[in-house]
Amino acid sequence: MNRKLQPYINTALAVVIPVVAFFLIWLLAGPKDLRNRQAEETVQQTVSVTETPQQEEPVRQTGGAPETNAADSAPRGEWVTENGNTYHYNAAGEKDTGWVAIDGKGCYFDQNGIYIPDRDNSNLVALTFDDGPSEYTNQILDVLEAYDVQATFMMLGVQVEKYGSVLPRMAALGNTLGNHSYSHTEMLDLKPDEVLWQFAAADELIEANAGEPAKVVRFPYGDYTKELVSAVGKPQIYWDVDSLDWDSQERSAIQTEIWTQIQGGCIILMHDIYPETAAAIAELIPSLLENGYEPVSIEELAASRGYELKSGVTYFSFKAKNLEEGRVTDE
Ligand code: ZN
Repeated sequence: MNRKLQPYINTALAVVIPVVAFFLIWLLAGPKDLRNRQAEETVQQTVSVTETPQQEEPVRQTGGAPETNAADSAPRGEWVTENGNTYHYNAAGEKDTGWVAIDGKGCYFDQNGIYIPDRDNSNLVALTFDDGPSEYTNQILDVLEAYDVQATFMMLGVQVEKYGSVLPRMAALGNTLGNHSYSHTEMLDLKPDEVLWQFAAADELIEANAGEPAKVVRFPYGDYTKELVSAVGKPQIYWDVDSLDWDSQERSAIQTEIWTQIQGGCIILMHDIYPETAAAIAELIPSLLENGYEPVSIEELAASRGYELKSGVTYFSFKAKNLEEGRVTDE
């Protein structure tokens, strides 16, 4: 080694060694310090969660989302007034919309959940379509969607096996899904367990296709006993206006039959398996609306009269006459 350079090297080492040593100590100690700080924050968060109401000074949140969210703190089953508007929250903490039965009274809320106390319910009617779905069901859904109205579909298991792909659309448009048995058998000729199988088999198919089970049932030919409806375990929907579409299968005759019988609160029977029924609906819906009638799902019609549909109960009609005379259900 060049002796002349030795003093310079010594001086350089005297500076470099302490710097390197200091850096090594910082590397080892630094992350440990950081870990300690994180541990302190965790303790502080734990303290803030278990904090009692008596504590005057709130413990500072050191990060992360609050422990509660809006849905947990929303009112449930309560009327609330906000900014001059009245709303009602359901049991799930969501704002009610449309017709809802609250304490036996039909209450209407617009699409934003604002309560409309003077909304007229007198001209609501329920269209019900039996024995489908079929190749014509989509045409009927086109009309319902175009006019933003709803109906109720009483479906057969054997038809769902063929045309089940229409069910997600039917459900998404707000229609009520109904179970009309698997194969349209006369239920009074069957043993009770065979009746239960008929509705269970159809329900399984409806749920597999729609993602939700049927909410209501209708026994084929309207032939039922209270015991069987109770055993099936859903509300049953009867009808009081028969369009006779199965007999006439002619669009004008179907409409004439409905216009001679229609009254607010009625339940209209049709079948979405005939091309002339689909053709009649395309003309009927706009003329119903022009004449002040409003087609709604059976759930909304019942709710508009203050009724929440109950399992095992058969509903005949929600016309004023039936309401006055106590002939709405078989209870
Ligand atoms: Zn039928």
